Amino acid sequence: MSGRTNVKHYDVAIIGGGASGCYLAALLADTDIRTALIESRDRLGRKLSATGNGQGNLTNVNVGADKYFCSDREWLADILCGVEDVLSPFCGLFETDDKGRVYPCGRQASSLTDALRTKIGKSNNIDVYLSSEVTDLSEGYVVTYSGGQLTADKVVLAAGGKAAKQFGTDGRAYSLAEKFGHKTTALYPALVQLRTDTTYTKTLKGLRVDCNATAEAGKTLRTCRGDVIFTDYGLSGNAIFTLSSFVTDKAGAVIRLEFLPDIPAHEIERDIRRKIGAGYERSEWLACTLPNVLGRAIMRRCASDDPREIARTVKDFRVECRGTLGFDYAQVTRGGIGIEGVSRNLESEYSRGLYFMGEILDVDGECGGYNLHWAFSCARRVFDAIYKRR
Ligand SMILES: Cc1cc2nc3c(=O)[nH]c(=O)nc-3n(C[C@H](O)[C@H](O)[C@H](O)COP(=O)(O)OP(=O)(O)OC[C@H]3O[C@@H](n4cnc5c(N)ncnc54)[C@H](O)[C@@H]3O)c2cc1C
Repeated sequence: MSGRTNVKHYDVAIIGGGASGCYLAALLADTDIRTALIESRDRLGRKLSATGNGQGNLTNVNVGADKYFCSDREWLADILCGVEDVLSPFCGLFETDDKGRVYPCGRQASSLTDALRTKIGKSNNIDVYLSSEVTDLSEGYVVTYSGGQLTADKVVLAAGGKAAKQFGTDGRAYSLAEKFGHKTTALYPALVQLRTDTTYTKTLKGLRVDCNATAEAGKTLRTCRGDVIFTDYGLSGNAIFTLSSFVTDKAGAVIRLEFLPDIPAHEIERDIRRKIGAGYERSEWLACTLPNVLGRAIMRRCASDDPREIARTVKDFRVECRGTLGFDYAQVTRGGIGIEGVSRNLESEYSRGLYFMGEILDVDGECGGYNLHWAFSCARRVFDAIYKRR
């Protein structure tokens, strides 16, 4: 017990009962470490239960440092654990899709949260504080939360980033680390829908197409294949989520869409010539080849009547970016607590006993399970640091 009356003392206080916080608490559940898990919302793991469209894409077999945005890939690679390690606290069966994304076979993200909650709930060493927003953290450590204060030898900041504030993450937690001298880098929404010029895409609202999509800003940033969905504000879909991470901090970016990625341009050109020979109206030169509404949009976009030019537009349809839909719609945050002041054990170099996990750090992953993999890898590393190496 600390010297303060009515102030409970713990070995470890985890601030944030999200993906990484719950995972660490579940690992600590089998130890004798007295732990406080403090969550501002009325339930643990709300965001985790919503991941992967509710299906819980918790890791990816293609994981590696190259799937992340981070200023020090070596530091990151040292912390990332293997897929089997990520899965180990969850009892259940898992399946991998053609993009390497790993899901529970039951395809329910909430089952992941339930598995962690059950482990936490069975432990006598873990006290869970719900509806308890941490508002201050001071040396000692003294944790002030909405219901009072507690003290702890070690504190783990797992309070997430600024994306998707409906899940309790609005970026306010960065200030808890800044008090100890840590710097927060510039913050951007990532894995998010893009606002674009809609001059030539207005009529396509609701259309989903499989295509190659490339992000450019002065140079090619990334190409990927996947779904693109046209909306009234711009572009959405898996491929756009992936590209958004590459353009979120770039002005003047362009998205280039290659429709019919498996059909070469010369075949499209030949088909147009055949239609011209058969007396088709110009507006129908792409009929049958593409959805009508898309074919017409391409014909409007391409001023020329030259079949080669039209085929080229099918293969290279450019859309100018005008920003993103913002943090409220983003899945993750680009930027966060700079990793310069954070050791490979995820401990602060300015304040011993203060640790960081997950999205609060300046690390974000591509779409496909990499962000949860990061959150869980952090939890494993902090567990090793505070339990195995004590
Ligand atoms: C809709 C959606 C779908 C996603 N799908 C996927 C996916 O399929 N695969 C994938 O890998 N990633 C996915 N992500 C990203 C992934 O969920 C996050 O990167 C991950 O949850 C981050 O884990 P974390 O522990 O760092 O933070 P979080 O899981 O965000 O948890 C932080 C917790 O801290 C709490 N908190 C914040 N401030 C305080 C405070 N001051 N005091 C107390 N508590 C506080 C919050 O309420 C929250 O519960 C998705 C994100 C969203 C929004």
